[in-house]
Amino acid sequence: MKLVFASNNPNKIAEIQNLVPDSIQILSLKDIECFEEIPETADTIEGNAILKANYVTEKYGFDCFADDSGLEIDYLNGAPGVFSARFAGAQKNDQDNIDKVLFELKEADNRKANFKTVIALNLNKKQHLFTGIINGNITTTQRGTEGFGYDPIFQPNDYNITFAEMNQQQKSSISHRGLAVKQLLEFLKK
Ligand code: IMP
Repeated sequence: MKLVFASNNPNKIAEIQNLVPDSIQILSLKDIECFEEIPETADTIEGNAILKANYVTEKYGFDCFADDSGLEIDYLNGAPGVFSARFAGAQKNDQDNIDKVLFELKEADNRKANFKTVIALNLNKKQHLFTGIINGNITTTQRGTEGFGYDPIFQPNDYNITFAEMNQQQKSSISHRGLAVKQLLEFLKK
């Protein structure tokens, strides 16, 4: 069975290919010769995952899954959410985004936040959604150099280190993305 992962990130593709049963061949966007930018214009994380999966299925006729993730901060009423990558502007710069969050939370007493990943899977003409959430707090200063995005300012509940102070394996075992992928894999193995 061929299944498209609506991504061109070789690390993500290889990671998924290693985890799915051998009977499933994972194809990237490049593999199906989809070179255009897929619109991500929805106003929710779920909406963007669905948009991307539907785009591939409708335009290219493949079963497909797509993921979308974001950071939701209580004090900012769930922002940056679907705008996480470009919170501080179209340049999509991780450090600018971190600086903006720390600035906006300068006076905040509530620093609770969560990361969320939604995976939308189109399989045999049906759609399935898998959601992974990890709760934590935004730190007052950034710590750690691993990972990407907001990792240096996100400290998961029950840990005294940030995502950026964890190695990849430790982060994946508890992260929003790890949890959503686990559900997808359990479903695909059935
Ligand atoms: P994407 O949908 O996985 O590309 O995530 C969108 C944006 O959310 C990223 O550009 C990051 O700013 C943020 N983000 C998502 N997942 C993570 C994570 O695991 N750590 C830090 N930031 C993340």
